[in-house]
Amino acid sequence: MKETIYLDHAATTPVKQEVLEAMLPFFTESFGNPSSIYSFAQDSKQALEEARETIAKGIGALDREIYFTGSGTEADNWAIKGVAESYRSKGNHIITSKVEHHAVLHACEYLEKNGFEVTYLDVDADGIVDLEQLKSSIKDTTILITIMFANNEIGTVQPIREIGRIAKERGVLFHTDAVQAIGHVPVDVNDLGVDLLSISGHKFYGPKGVGVLYARKTVKLKAFIHGGGQERGRRGGTENVPGIVGMAKAMELALADMEEESARQRELRDYVKERILEKVPYARLNGHPEKRLPNNVNISFRFIEGESLLIMLDMKGICASSGSACTSGSLDPSHVLLAIGLPHEIAHGSLRISLGESSTREDMDTLVEALVPIVEKLRAMSPLYEDFVKNNG
Ligand SMILES: *Cc1c(COP(=O)(O)O)cnc(C)c1O
Repeated sequence: MKETIYLDHAATTPVKQEVLEAMLPFFTESFGNPSSIYSFAQDSKQALEEARETIAKGIGALDREIYFTGSGTEADNWAIKGVAESYRSKGNHIITSKVEHHAVLHACEYLEKNGFEVTYLDVDADGIVDLEQLKSSIKDTTILITIMFANNEIGTVQPIREIGRIAKERGVLFHTDAVQAIGHVPVDVNDLGVDLLSISGHKFYGPKGVGVLYARKTVKLKAFIHGGGQERGRRGGTENVPGIVGMAKAMELALADMEEESARQRELRDYVKERILEKVPYARLNGHPEKRLPNNVNISFRFIEGESLLIMLDMKGICASSGSACTSGSLDPSHVLLAIGLPHEIAHGSLRISLGESSTREDMDTLVEALVPIVEKLRAMSPLYEDFVKNNG
């Protein structure tokens, strides 16, 4: 078996060895239920509260503003449906954008079927939300603005601080899905003026199936899962202690070397992007050239199908993603690529690579060496490409 080159860290990341080691005792020796009274359960309870402290500190929040969830998706659902329910008497209008993750978009669509009105803001060609449109969309009935921190497909980082300022001025709550941002860019809820924020452990070398909803203490947050008194009575269910401990450890490690590691990945990102654009004609970079995640490259190649490209890269041992990874089984191109104005046929031929801590310059070279002949081969099979070359050559 040849070695795998994993370039899909926006989809998920491996659990770091240190993270695994921090988790292990809570499966076996220290398995107590944190809600139990006897001293044997104190280890679990203490670990849970230490994890809460670590996460709170990591984003500049208070311990009691941190709620553990079962995923980033759950945190997004809770933020949006929770605010909708708690603030219904104030209004029924929510503002989001056309490039959100499906966890946000589908929660908003659900609310639309239940008497809420949702405005989906446009983005410019680089994927940045239109702040003027945001301002003019706010009305007396607006109760929530939910705009993602950084886009999972094209890597564009939104002007979160400006959005926070606008929300505050107009007295509207602001939620941001920061799942892709944590560990890559600084996140401080007070500095950014964020009221609610979603996090997912498995996107920064923590375990899958665990996330966080941050909710500012002034936010009226109703129970999302009814059950026991866990998470201040708002999210019942025995806590995933090993998962939570792992997520906190992963955040601690990610924040400790974020600056150097981001700089390293940014350099690799720019290197591989330049090389691809230089070697493959009729290719374009998607997303903002500078205001983007340090580990994201998204490129559209005309005249090819993204899925075929992924399969051929897979045969070379390279894991990457296309624009439609989240809608596998459907032939719809990515809603994000359509929102930045790409026509269907170009959106279809897109490749996302997302780098991680294990990524090296050799990996980038291997990718480019594999990619160039694959694109040539796929284009050679396209009658449209043949016509294009005839007319433009
Ligand atoms: C991965 C992701 C999610 C979902 O998180 P899960 O923990 O996998 O449910 C939500 N939003 C964004 C931007 C993501 O990248």
